[in-house]
Parts: sequence; C-alpha cells; structure tokens
Amino acid sequence: MHCFNHQKTSAVCACGVCLKGLCNECMQPTDDKFVCSPACAQHLQKITRLNNYVMSVYGINKSGGSQKVGMRTAMLHLTMGVTFLGFGAYTAVDIGDWGLTFFTAMLGLIFVVQGYKTYKRGLRL
Ligand SMILES: [Zn+2]
Ligand SMILES: [Zn+2]
Repeated sequence: MHCFNHQKTSAVCACGVCLKGLCNECMQPTDDKFVCSPACAQHLQKITRLNNYVMSVYGINKSGGSQKVGMRTAMLHLTMGVTFLGFGAYTAVDIGDWGLTFFTAMLGLIFVVQGYKTYKRGLRL
C-alpha cells in the first residue's frame, strides 16, 4: 500500500476512519488511532463516542470482555461438560468400555471446570 497523498512513498499505517494509506509525514495521531485529516479526526471522535455509548448499553467494558458473552460461554462449556459426563456414564453402563468412559469423563470434567472458571470471570466483570 502507498500513501494516499504521496504515490511513491509506502504507507506505514492507514487512516482509522477512511482507511487511506498514510506515510510518516501524513499520519496524524489521535488518542488511539492515526487519521489522515482533521475531518477524519472529528469523525473518529464521533465514532468513539458512539462506540462507548453502545458498549455501555450492552455492558461491554473496554478490556474486551462482555459479561453476557462470558455467561454464554460458561453455559456452553457447562452443557458440553454435562453432555460428556452423561455420555461417559452411558458408555460405562451400556457399552462397558472403561477406556472410552475415562476419556469422555475427563473431557466432561475439563469442560465443567472451564465453564466454572468462565462463569466466575463473568461475575467479576
Ligand atoms: Zn481519513
Ligand atoms: Zn504521505
């Protein structure tokens, strides 16, 4: 990619708003991104404000985690764990294959532990 303003200079970054390529001379730093022009800087401010608003509405904080997503992942892991544990019990009773039972039970335990950890993390957010 080349700089939008200097066709012969290779770009070192892209404008965070319009995604034009920018060279060292053309890039203008803002709080968290580089932009190509004051107009884009203003636009970025609006986007950031909108993002913050949307994130606050959905309970997402800036560290990248969402409580809802965390809970959903936790539930998914727990469901998987219980399914595997149930399957393990089934293989033990119906098939009598203890190797398979051990394997599925271990998988089930790992999922349950993982789900529990995610759940705890979700609570802390
Ligand atoms: Zn721009
Ligand atoms: Zn340039």
